[in-house]
Amino acid sequence: MLSLEKSAAAFAEAKALMPGGVNSPVRSYRSMGSTPPFIARAKGSKIYDIDGNEYIDYVGSWGPMVVGHAHDEVIAAINEAAALGTSYGAPTLRESELARLVMTVYPSIQRIRMVNSGTEATMSALRLARGYTKRDKIVKFIGCYHGHSDSLLVKAGSGLATFGVPDSPGVTAGVARDTITVPYNDQDALTAVMKEQGGEVAAVIVEPVAGNMGCILPKQGYLGFLRNITAQYGALLIFDEVMCGFRASLGGAQAAYGVTPDLTCLGKIIGGGLPMAAYGGRAEIMDYVSPAGPVYQAGTLSGNPLAMAAGIATLKILTAEPAPGQPDPSRLLTLKVKELLAAIGDSARKYGVPLQLHQAGSMFGLFFSEKEVENYDSAAACDQEAFKVWFHAMLEQGIYLAPSQFETIFMSLAHSEADIAKTIAAADTALKAVADSRK
Ligand SMILES: *Cc1c(COP(=O)(O)O)cnc(C)c1O
Repeated sequence: MLSLEKSAAAFAEAKALMPGGVNSPVRSYRSMGSTPPFIARAKGSKIYDIDGNEYIDYVGSWGPMVVGHAHDEVIAAINEAAALGTSYGAPTLRESELARLVMTVYPSIQRIRMVNSGTEATMSALRLARGYTKRDKIVKFIGCYHGHSDSLLVKAGSGLATFGVPDSPGVTAGVARDTITVPYNDQDALTAVMKEQGGEVAAVIVEPVAGNMGCILPKQGYLGFLRNITAQYGALLIFDEVMCGFRASLGGAQAAYGVTPDLTCLGKIIGGGLPMAAYGGRAEIMDYVSPAGPVYQAGTLSGNPLAMAAGIATLKILTAEPAPGQPDPSRLLTLKVKELLAAIGDSARKYGVPLQLHQAGSMFGLFFSEKEVENYDSAAACDQEAFKVWFHAMLEQGIYLAPSQFETIFMSLAHSEADIAKTIAAADTALKAVADSRK
């Protein structure tokens, strides 16, 4: 039995200090009805709590840790940068270096602006889209999460889905009115909205591979449809690749599906585990951003030297040429996930547990359902009690997963064959527990 005594005490104290004891809601394990392990340290594929438990980590700080925790090259880069000063509020060479690295794998990004969080990236991209098109409305998809700025906190996924609140109090009715929501993967719904209001829509923003209602893939042709219909009505297409960037493929969903957005938001991996994100796209649009253009957006710590160093080091590992005959890092990640999911699928069939398994490169997820899961409603209809049983059984066996069906699971380069074998064995036990709980 997993002992979390120290974590439980620390959590009780933290609740008197921070709302719900945490600085981001899903960390609280509230929907799982248990205590979150308090983390002391992490290295490679492993994370360790203050009770001395060791876990194989598939949360990866919710996405960024694609090369594993405390990777020697990333730590060295951060240390080197830190010794030269932690922030200047002035241009540096590292910012251009990271910009070039990103543009090499995201050719749709001709200009980039660095910010401090995914929330800032999407919020700023929307302001830019509104400024550029001189229109007010935006379209987002139910269950897609784009950070917590007001305009985007309408029918958002992630923590809101986990806690069953579609919208947040504090978002004004006026702001919410300008946000039109439609179901993901539903061409007819968006077509109808655009027919009526297309001329007022500044942008359609989408997670091209959805990761915040669980991991849900776009249907065949869906992203191409989004490209065509936005172009038809003069609205911008914004790909929020904060999560799926560098994961759906190295070049994100846009490379994997061959669809070019007008603007792209990146985060998580791009900062290598430090607070950093970015938005970018066509030069003609991006040059509307201040000081090149009139749309204002700024940041005291934007382009922070430590974050640049961590991002550059991480992207260098991800873009490294493989040894002859070896798969490149992205391919390697994809293969590891394939191996894991194939085994989990076998166990589920063995115990008669209906399971939907989804994968996009190094991000993946599972739903306890007989039916296909293609949007928020079908995700919400899955067996969430079964998920709870699965989650706790995995944690007990030292497998650290996101405490919500509405989150995605992440593979890192640090996960070894032994880690995967252990995870497969644990999953078999956990799926048996799910089957038993249903009897
Ligand atoms: C995580 C995430 C965000 C928000 O990023 P933060 O850094 O948490 O503000 C935005 N969009 C997507 C798709 C995300 O997964």
